[in-house]
This record gives sequence, structure tokens and C-alpha cells, in this order.
Amino acid sequence: MVRPDNLEVYVSATTTMTPEVPPTPEPAIDPQLASEQLPNHKVRVKKLHQRSCNLKDEKNKICGGHLKRWFYTADRIEQACGDAEKAWGPDREVYRCEYCKTLYLPNPDENKKNVAGVGMTSIFGLTVPPKEEKK
Ligand SMILES: [Zn+2]
Repeated sequence: MVRPDNLEVYVSATTTMTPEVPPTPEPAIDPQLASEQLPNHKVRVKKLHQRSCNLKDEKNKICGGHLKRWFYTADRIEQACGDAEKAWGPDREVYRCEYCKTLYLPNPDENKKNVAGVGMTSIFGLTVPPKEEKK
């Protein structure tokens, strides 16, 4: 039996067409990672009443830095970057770890006043009129 080692297929020209994606892209996914990320900042969402940073470093040591309200428009360094203001406007409530500078958005549940819960917002009553494409 001769093994078909000589598999010189037609790969040469179309190297961009590689659909092979590794099944596990990120082994440790951050459950608190915010859906909105800034180009130059890592953004996470605070756990309920979280006061200190719980990011772990490579040695699995928790950062533990205090989360302080971060007024990015008053931050000289941030002004050079500016992506926070660009994405969020001038006065969004944001917190930042004093050590690792990770940004934290407030937990959406933290500001809820009525514990009974917000009533179901009916999506069903919403009818979106079909858009007519104009040509
Ligand atoms: Zn930190």
C-alpha cells in the first residue's frame, strides 16, 4: 500500500479560503465581559454591588483594585484616546479599576428601584411596517 503523501492539492492560489476554525477559540471566556467593548479599553460589567476588581492575572491572582467612578471626560490621558467619550457620550456612569484600569459598567440590576420587577414590555403590540425599497 502506498500512502498518498503526495497531496499537493490546489491550495496555493486560494489561501484565504480556509474555513477551518478551531472548535474552542477562547478557553477562558470572561462571564462579565461587556458586550460593548472599546477599541482601547477592556470593558466589563459589574456584578451586583461589586466594589473591587475580580480580574485574575496569569498567576490566577485576583487584582482586587477598587472600582472608582471614572469621569473619563476629566481624564487627561483618556482625552488623548477619546474612545470612551466617542462611544458613550460625555457622562456615562463608568467605573474603573484603580490597578489594572479595566472599565466597569454598572450592573443593570443595581439601579432598579422596584424589586417587584419591571412589567413585561410587550413586544407583541409592536408592528413594524414593511419597508418598501425605493429604487
Ligand atoms: Zn483590576
